[in-house]
Amino acid sequence: MDITKLIRKECEGFKPYVAGKPIETIKREMGLKSVIKLASNENPLGASKKALEAIKENLKEIFYYPDSNSYALKKGLSEHYGLSVGNIFTGAGGDEIIELIAKLFFNKEEEVVISRHSFIRYEMAAKLMGSKAIVVAMKEGFKHDLTGMAKACTEKTKAVFVTNPNNPTGTYNTKEELCKFLKDIPSNKAGLKPIVVLDEAYFEYAFLEEDYPNGIDFLKENPNLIIFRTFSKIYGLAGLRVAYGFASEEIVDYIERTRPPFNVNRLAQIGGTAAIEDNEQVVKSLELVNEGKEYLYKEFRDLEIEYIKSAGNFILFNSSPYKGKELFDALVREGVIIRAMDEYELPDWVRVTIGLCEENELFIDKLKKIF
Ligand code: PMP
Repeated sequence: MDITKLIRKECEGFKPYVAGKPIETIKREMGLKSVIKLASNENPLGASKKALEAIKENLKEIFYYPDSNSYALKKGLSEHYGLSVGNIFTGAGGDEIIELIAKLFFNKEEEVVISRHSFIRYEMAAKLMGSKAIVVAMKEGFKHDLTGMAKACTEKTKAVFVTNPNNPTGTYNTKEELCKFLKDIPSNKAGLKPIVVLDEAYFEYAFLEEDYPNGIDFLKENPNLIIFRTFSKIYGLAGLRVAYGFASEEIVDYIERTRPPFNVNRLAQIGGTAAIEDNEQVVKSLELVNEGKEYLYKEFRDLEIEYIKSAGNFILFNSSPYKGKELFDALVREGVIIRAMDEYELPDWVRVTIGLCEENELFIDKLKKIF
């Protein structure tokens, strides 16, 4: 029986997502004793201690289903951010939030505007729903061209995705740029603006930059805005799969009606609720990452390697004279895993996640053997 004849047309052509080989596999294949992974923008300090304690205390409770409404987590987020619970929704990671939005809003034949070299899951979510991704080139210096993105909106545009700061470039759009973009974005004939999805997965690493916009400040005046953030990055809970979003009560209500009932598992809700109060985790991680970035910038300059200044916990740098994949392979042989950028259409660039000081130093030592 030919199953391919039964699947939805939109699902054809998809390939499994390959997140890279696990550390243990690389050790075995390369015959290496130690391998470090600086590839997925995880937090090298590990999980929020408060989250870990709360999870340990509640481990025995996992025979209960989770609260399908994530109430305690939403309440914690509402107190932390000064928003009402009705403006908050949760998901099993930002990845699921992107799909929840796609499922709710995107139709066949509609368009979704995205920036080139931005997070790849948006395009996949659009395709899955039969919508078309309109890809807008970036400006010089790998910044989203928000003016170009507003201009790319047509009658068919249902949503625009803005990653701020962007992964994998680490660049961000300023308050002024975002404000202008939200005004410029055109309404269709029915007087409706497209949904603007502001992906702030790396918010906590960027929010101290003077001209970095906090999306929440724009929520009241822009009922078409959806913002989301994640516990995967600064809070170190990538393995738990928990993220949250902010939007108008009306949008949140519709998301609530269409999401799976227990999408955020019990431990993820407990971990997230504790993590949001873990200021120490944020302060320590920011210190470590800022120190790591300064160290790596200096080393890149000394090695005459072009890099992009980053507002995230990672740096994009040019791999020339090597292809990114070649540099990736060479570093893996030395026991350091970084990320090649072919899937982001950047074959001459690679991305390295900021690690612990000794990991950053080891990465530079190995890089020096190659450059
Ligand atoms: N958005 C961006 C820009 C990301 O880099 C990531 C993680 N790589 C996500 C969303 C999704 O993160 P998660 O699903 O772990 O919350």
